[in-house]
Amino acid sequence: MIQARRTVSARIIDGKALARQIEEEVTAELGRLPWRPGLVAVRVGNDPASEIYVRSKARKAEELGFRGGQRVFPETFSEAELLTEVQRLNEDDDVDGILVQLPLPKQINATRVIDAIDPAKDVDGFHPLNVGRLHLGRPTLVPCTPSGVMRLIDSTGEPIEGRHAVVVGRSDIVGKPQAALLLQRNATVTICHSRTPDLGAVVRQGDIVVVAVGKAFLVTGDMIKPGAVVIDVGMNRMGPSFAPQLQHDADKLRLLEKNGSVLVGDVDFARAKKVAGWITPVPGGVGPMTIAMLMRNTLTAAQRRRR
Ligand code: NAP
Repeated sequence: MIQARRTVSARIIDGKALARQIEEEVTAELGRLPWRPGLVAVRVGNDPASEIYVRSKARKAEELGFRGGQRVFPETFSEAELLTEVQRLNEDDDVDGILVQLPLPKQINATRVIDAIDPAKDVDGFHPLNVGRLHLGRPTLVPCTPSGVMRLIDSTGEPIEGRHAVVVGRSDIVGKPQAALLLQRNATVTICHSRTPDLGAVVRQGDIVVVAVGKAFLVTGDMIKPGAVVIDVGMNRMGPSFAPQLQHDADKLRLLEKNGSVLVGDVDFARAKKVAGWITPVPGGVGPMTIAMLMRNTLTAAQRRRR
């Protein structure tokens, strides 16, 4: 029998709406607590992207009802000074969550700083104790982006157990914890990275595909299995030289022409959505979920610490 060609477009997973729902839940739970948990975001230096991230995390925390705060230090801040600051926050009983925005200036060893954060306040879930707990399947503070991805997949109603999940990228903050979370849910997990030969052949097997690389359109439409759930973590700001790759995507092309640059994911959204069953857009997919899960983690950290 000849199979009919699939022409139905994928359903779009609305990360903004789901993030709003999680934030409303967090606000409601906060309202029932007799104290106001606190989140402190630490930034060192003047990286413009970090400036935006830290400000928006602190603002969101305050908006939801946390005591939010930023600690901003100069580019020349030393590792010893930062470690002292982290220690001060560890000892401050009003602080439930600490996050140190990465990257840090080159004189500071990020690993030493992450290792110095009290694991009970490590709302990014990067401390080795929390990473270990995650891989052992024990309760812990899970990194925000991969836990947000799990919520996005669950929102589709598609099962995870028994499905082949392909994770592209093996970073400590996304790919590796993502694979651990999918494995915990009984998916068969394959992890791809820069040394994977024939990426397309592997991705094409994925019932669930999570891409976290940082390379615009690395995953093309012909790499997607019909009906797959596709989650695009990548965020790539592209300039006018990217226009030839956007000829099939009128919306993005219009944005590029209007603004001089455009934000795209690691997946060629316009082509992949013709094949996938579900897909996240960039922006408006994973991004809003990361911050919502940070708020969730801060509440969890506060509840566990003060139990
Ligand atoms: P990262 O630390 O740079 O890791 C990238 C991973 O991609 C590495 O494991 C690398 O492999 C792999 N890779 C590179 N080229 C590849 C190729 N050709 N084929 C297959 N794999 C390849 O990046 P990250 O921190 O995980 O971030 C990835 C992307 O997600 C970035 O665009 C970032 O901006 C975005 N992001 C978004 C959010 C959000 O909230 N939306 C949060 C975090 C990250 P090797 O290990 O072999 O080098």
